[in-house]
Amino acid sequence: MSDAPAIDWTNPSKKPAPDPGPDPEPGPLYAVRKAVHPQRIDGPFRRFKWLVMLITLGIYYITPWIRWDRGPFAPDQAVLVDLANRRFYMFGVEIWPHEFYFVAGMLIMAGIGLFLVTSAVGRAWCGYSCPQTVWTDVFQHVDRFVDGDRNARMRLDAAPWGPAKIARRGFKWTIYLVISFWTGGAWIMYFADAPTLTVDFWTGQAAMVAYVTVAILTATTFILGGFLREQVCIYMCPWPRIQTAMLDEKSLIVTYKDWRGEQRGSVKKAAKNPERYGDCIDCNQCVAVCPTGVDIREGAQIGCITCGLCIDACDRVMAEVGRPRGLIDYATLEDCEHEAAGGNVRSIWKTLFRPRTLIYFSIWGAIGAALLFALGVRTHTELTVEHDRNPPFMLMSNGDVRNAFTVRIRNMESRPRDMKLEIGGLPDGLMWTDDTARADAARSIIRAVPADATQPVRVYVIAPSDTVTQNFTFTVTSQDEQSEQDAAEVRFESPEN
Ligand code: SF4
Ligand code: SF4
Repeated sequence: MSDAPAIDWTNPSKKPAPDPGPDPEPGPLYAVRKAVHPQRIDGPFRRFKWLVMLITLGIYYITPWIRWDRGPFAPDQAVLVDLANRRFYMFGVEIWPHEFYFVAGMLIMAGIGLFLVTSAVGRAWCGYSCPQTVWTDVFQHVDRFVDGDRNARMRLDAAPWGPAKIARRGFKWTIYLVISFWTGGAWIMYFADAPTLTVDFWTGQAAMVAYVTVAILTATTFILGGFLREQVCIYMCPWPRIQTAMLDEKSLIVTYKDWRGEQRGSVKKAAKNPERYGDCIDCNQCVAVCPTGVDIREGAQIGCITCGLCIDACDRVMAEVGRPRGLIDYATLEDCEHEAAGGNVRSIWKTLFRPRTLIYFSIWGAIGAALLFALGVRTHTELTVEHDRNPPFMLMSNGDVRNAFTVRIRNMESRPRDMKLEIGGLPDGLMWTDDTARADAARSIIRAVPADATQPVRVYVIAPSDTVTQNFTFTVTSQDEQSEQDAAEVRFESPEN
């Protein structure tokens, strides 16, 4: 085949385009990470971040140590995922495995809550309360504590390895490890009695899974928070992508008001030529304080977790040079266009009350109300019945018909209770159990069911020979002041149809 340029046959006199040459070499798949050394900053958003960090870490580390008296038959840990006994305790609420829909409901609420927060205040979750953000922030403060602020850390990073640098790095990574270990250790406390597990853990008597879990969580916290940091947000986490799809022109984002800031120039230059320069003095402070190394002046980007620290930095600079605050600010795209066209700055509060946020809030509130209602009306006495299928009935020597059932009586209270099991319907039907005699067969029996337990009972129901196949009910009633009841309809099988 010829390598000559192709002729355009619709216009043969036109000269063929010159050969552009070989395709350029593809660039590297990933950019080499530039270390981020955020500078210390103070301001309203930084203080809010401190507050959220204290609250979230406080909840995480302290919750397993809160006690909650449930009586002698249940654990006294306020929040406990009791895998061995298949229970989830949360203060006054105890969730059984068959009530998993409560947990599912709470997870759905958490998901819709994230949508609600994103549509109201943008990526506030990422900026303030995501565990990756919180632990990265903790580790960045450790960096500052050990190595000094931004410039000192950059100098140390660039310095060759020597005894001093090795000692500093060793000290810093030891602190990282202690924090990571504490984080992993706190996690397992949610799955067993915290004081007991702590003693067992340090005396080598805890289950192997506890040691393995702590080791994995220590390693992941150490690596993700200590080293990968903003790369988790930029490359690994799917949530920024989902959020980007959820944001619209009415969503709050951190934005640089380029119509006000450009063209950038120093105070000196602007003093000489005020018409030419905008408010940005190109001091780079907004970039220096950014925990993800983003230059917000280049526009909204996935690396921006909307923490607002660049707003604190820029507001401080604006105050120093005597210009109005808000060159970088939380604003919606719609507001930006409005302001750029000469309109007034609009309050951000209106973004909270718009159809989208109200719809999310209504769904979130409706699920919450439904869960609370279900929690309020649920009984702590339940009954399930399983009919023996093979054989469905037995004929006794006197012609009576007998059906066998496995009845499970559930006592969801944290104390033992007597439960009365009764037959409803099925005239002349009587029952007895594995541990009572047929001669004592009656319409009801009473069983003591231990606290917080399900008791299976083999029940035999007998009826005269002329009884036809029909439905009847088992009813269980707690023999206490609550008199809680549950019933199950079952079928009595007979050869007489
Ligand atoms: S902090 Fe403000 S003034 Fe300084 S570079 Fe950033 S946007 Fe410009
Ligand atoms: S650009 Fe500003 S808001 Fe975005 S992550 Fe950096 S400091 Fe936070």
